[in-house]
This record gives sequence, C-alpha cells and structure tokens, in this order.
Amino acid sequence: MLTVAKRIVIKIGSSLIIGEDGHVRKEWLSSLAQDIAELKRCGKEIIVVTSGAVGLGRHVLAYGMRKLELEEKQAAAAAGQIPLFIQWYKAIESCRENGDYLYPAQILLTADDSINRRRYLNARNTLETLLENPSIIPIINENDTVATAELRFGDNDRLAARVAQMVGADLLILFSDIDGLYSADPRTNPNAVLQRKIDEITPETEAMAGGAGSSVGTGGMATKISAAKIAMAAGCNMIIAKGIENHPLQKLLDGVKHSLFIAKGSPLSARKHWIAGSLHPAGTITIDAGAVRALQTGKSLLPAGVTAISGEFERGDTVLICDANGFKLGRGLISYNAADAKRIIGKKSVEIEQILGFKRRDVLIHRDDMVLE
Ligand code: GLU
Repeated sequence: MLTVAKRIVIKIGSSLIIGEDGHVRKEWLSSLAQDIAELKRCGKEIIVVTSGAVGLGRHVLAYGMRKLELEEKQAAAAAGQIPLFIQWYKAIESCRENGDYLYPAQILLTADDSINRRRYLNARNTLETLLENPSIIPIINENDTVATAELRFGDNDRLAARVAQMVGADLLILFSDIDGLYSADPRTNPNAVLQRKIDEITPETEAMAGGAGSSVGTGGMATKISAAKIAMAAGCNMIIAKGIENHPLQKLLDGVKHSLFIAKGSPLSARKHWIAGSLHPAGTITIDAGAVRALQTGKSLLPAGVTAISGEFERGDTVLICDANGFKLGRGLISYNAADAKRIIGKKSVEIEQILGFKRRDVLIHRDDMVLE
C-alpha cells in the first residue's frame, strides 16, 4: 500500500514522540524523518500530523502526569508546541542530501477549519501550495489553544483523517503504540486476534474498538475507528501500525504487521460523489457548443467557452453547467467568485492575470471538480 500511494498523511501519536522521561525521542524522530525524506525522494507527497504539544507542555508547566483541565491542556499545548516543532525542524532539516533541502511548514488547525467552507478552502489551498514545493513537509497539529470544548477534535486521529480527506490523500497511516485493531484488548486477552484487513466498519468492528464513542477504547482505538470511517468514505486507505521502533515507515515497507482499512473507491470518485450530491448550486454557467464538446471528451472548462454567468457564488462553490438552450449538463466547483468569473468569461486563459491582476487557475472548473449528468 505504501509503495503505490502517492499522497500520504502520517499521524504520530504522543506516546511515540515523547519518551518516558517526558522529552522528545530524538533518535527515533530522526529515523522517522529519514524515512520521510526517502519517500519524498521517491516522489511521494507527505503530510505529517503530530501530537505531543500537550505532553511536552505539561512538563514545561510542571503539571506532572495529573489529569488536566481544558484550560491547562490549552496552556500546555501553547508551551509544548514550540519544543515539539523545534525537534521536528531539526530532524527534518538534517535529512538534506546532495543539496536537496527539506523543511517543515507548520499548520495549526481546528475542527472549524474542516467545517466552515471558507476556512476549509483556505486550509486546503495552503496545503496544496506547500505540496507543490518538493522541499516542504507540512506538519500539522490541532490549534488546541483556541479550540473551544465543543469545537475541538481533541484527538489527532480524526484531525488526520479530515486532513487526508481535505487534500484527497490516498493513504493515511496512524502510528501508535499498538499494531492494529484486535478482536479484543490484547493487553488483557491473550486470544485477541489482529484484524489485518477491514473492508467495512460494522457494529462488530466498533465493538472490537471498545464501542462507538467510547473515549477510552482499546488503546484509543475508538477514535481510530472514527478516523477510518472518515478516511474510507473519502476514498483514502488507512493503516494502523505500531510505530515505536526506529524507522517505522521502513518497517512498514518491510512488512511489519498492521491493520489495513480499505477505502471505498478513490479520492477522486469520493470527491465527485460529493459534488454530485451537493444540494444547492449557487449559480449557473452557460457554455458554448465547443465547450460542450470539450467537456464531453473529459476536458476542463476554460473561461473562453463560457457565454453567461448567473448567481452569486464564491470560489469553491458548486455551480450548474448548462448549454445554450438551458439544458443541464452537470455541475462543478468553480475556481473564481462570481464577480471575477464574469470579468474573464469569453477570454483566453493567458489574459486572466491581466484582467484580474492575479490568476488562480487557467480553468474555470477543473475536470476533477466536475460531474457530468
Ligand atoms: N493536539 C494534541 C497535542 O499535540 C494531541 C491530541 C492527541 O493526542 O490526539 O498534544
């Protein structure tokens, strides 16, 4: 799975990155960074979701190991994010080889960033822009200090799944302190069997994980199953593997045991399914006969083929696509807001920048963002 995946989100749990002494496990982190660098050299796109800020911060603030109140967790996250990131920076930066530099880029997200449409698009565009640069590894954590109780993910498993969905990743790896989903808790039941391949999350799967919504679960398994549901529906395969030993990605390539959750379809099919089901198109784009033919042969919609635009929409909204007779051809996510789109219709893509003063894309609707009826 790891060899064929192109865009991979890797989630690192606190228990891996922080040692029993409360400090970052530097040697392990450096071995992970080397694995990531190797995957980058093979042309893969990697995004990391890392925990550990609260765990490191609780020591900075001398909270010890006691249960923390929400405000204390937020304070610990603020104090711990910097030492966490310093270690990530050092580990990644030291992986340069023959002048190939690698740098991390920090992104702190809240659950709201995956719900609120504008923020979602901003986060997605930032990630896409970072991924275009082969030297950059985006490293994400929850923005614990601002997320209120109701709006928190609270765990990075689901955050990582949302990120995988946001960027259309084809693989999500959750590295944790357990090597996968077991039929029962392996710490208390010696007969527990590792589930190697899961095609569907059934009530039995949920029961194995300690029940839906349980906050304890089998080694935090309940949140991993929630993450699997999000990832699988988004067309993204998911792996749970034990990551505690050095070179965890290399170990996975070598075939270390793990659980694999199989996606339903591809990220692209999941995206198209979502577009097809979007309820309220915000506008209508009328296109000429040449553009109709182009779309039917699988091309994107260029501004040059558009004759009229109606409706008030923002960039990223769903719009209907119609021919000159008003016949509905399909729908898609538009790359420009209504005001900008109106100014560039009928024009060549090379003219976009001159007309608007900026250019996002050559196309008005990309073929990956379009579903024909
Ligand atoms: N955002 C939390 C931290 O960095 C981690 C949440 C989790 O462990 O899933 O400490």
